Amino acid sequence: MIAEEYKQMLGKKSVIRELSEYGTERAKEIGYEKVFDYSLGNPSVQVPQAFTDKLIELAASKNSAAVHGYSPSLGISSVREKIAASLNRRFGMDYEKEHIFMTSGAAGAIAHALRSVTKKGDEVMTFAPYFPEYNPYVNKTGAVLKIVPADTVGFQINFPEFEKMFSSKVMAVLINTPNNPSGIVYSTETIEKLAAFLTEKEREFGHDIFLISDEPYREIVFKHVDAPYTAKYYHNTITCYSFSKSMSLPGERIGYLAVNPACKDAELIVEMCGQISRGIGHNCPPSIIQLAVAEVVDLTADLSVYETNMNILYGALTGFGFSCVKPGGTFYMFPKAMEEDAGRFCSRALKYDLILVPADSFGCPGYFRIAYCIPTEKVERSLEAFRQLAQDYQ
Ligand code: PLP
Repeated sequence: MIAEEYKQMLGKKSVIRELSEYGTERAKEIGYEKVFDYSLGNPSVQVPQAFTDKLIELAASKNSAAVHGYSPSLGISSVREKIAASLNRRFGMDYEKEHIFMTSGAAGAIAHALRSVTKKGDEVMTFAPYFPEYNPYVNKTGAVLKIVPADTVGFQINFPEFEKMFSSKVMAVLINTPNNPSGIVYSTETIEKLAAFLTEKEREFGHDIFLISDEPYREIVFKHVDAPYTAKYYHNTITCYSFSKSMSLPGERIGYLAVNPACKDAELIVEMCGQISRGIGHNCPPSIIQLAVAEVVDLTADLSVYETNMNILYGALTGFGFSCVKPGGTFYMFPKAMEEDAGRFCSRALKYDLILVPADSFGCPGYFRIAYCIPTEKVERSLEAFRQLAQDYQ
């Protein structure tokens, strides 16, 4: 018999993917240039030239086994060393290669992190608005995902609700900063408050509580925005990172998990990840990509276009009457819909070939997400469509 559990998931397809597919079909009908597709967080900028050069050099290597062979189950040793050294240089940490585990993007890192610190029946908490894929990541471990309602004033953490919902069953708290979909970066004050609360709860309940910090947008932070490195503030932190957005490499599926050396059983957790990979059959990310990213680990793509796009959109949309908290990073913006039902609002936007994502699946009804990782010239041309949409509600 086929697995009913996965069959049922077919009925709950990602809204984002569906809208993106609609955009592709619509572009075939009326032309790509005329569709303002803000649905998918697929980076639009070029990968760094140094990465491409390194990849070509590696591909031409005569040492086929080193470049195209299986990597060790925890990742290539020299790659793990370079990543640890980079984190130490940038954030004043004390990682060693034993604290780094190579993964298929942040998705792989989160799936491993969750499995390493939770079991069936445990609770994992996260904060709305949140990345909808957290549902399957958590559900498939047998733990239960608890979603704290949003702080809609600034999209930091809604501490009163969080504290009310927190129970002794919580074994992990999953945060995402800079945040998809709000574009907000958690402040030092927020991270310090969260760390103090979790430390107090560890003492009260007498067990470890892990902070899983999902940070694929860490490098996309705008000017003058405070972007603390979470693991510096809380001992039991597992950081999930990805080169998908920083180097524009989402298709290469490369990232890592970094366990804070101050974390309980830090090295053991990394070793266990090797065993988790065996269990889920998702192991050994491509050797050539590991080697290439490690050579350029401190580089990013030219990410400046995202801040340019944000400023254009934020200025125009607030001028048209939209209410929106100004993003501090990422390539997402999260305005309030102009009617209560964001689904209806986004359907109306389609009339102007504007593809926007209603935020119900992010746990924050009444809002919508704009993924502005598209060319600036297209952002500028889309403003008239936003203006007309806003006018419909005047
Ligand atoms: N976490 C968040 C918040 C994301 O937005 C994404 C991708 O969009 C991921 C994780 C997964 O990223 P990756 O491509 O690195 O697996």
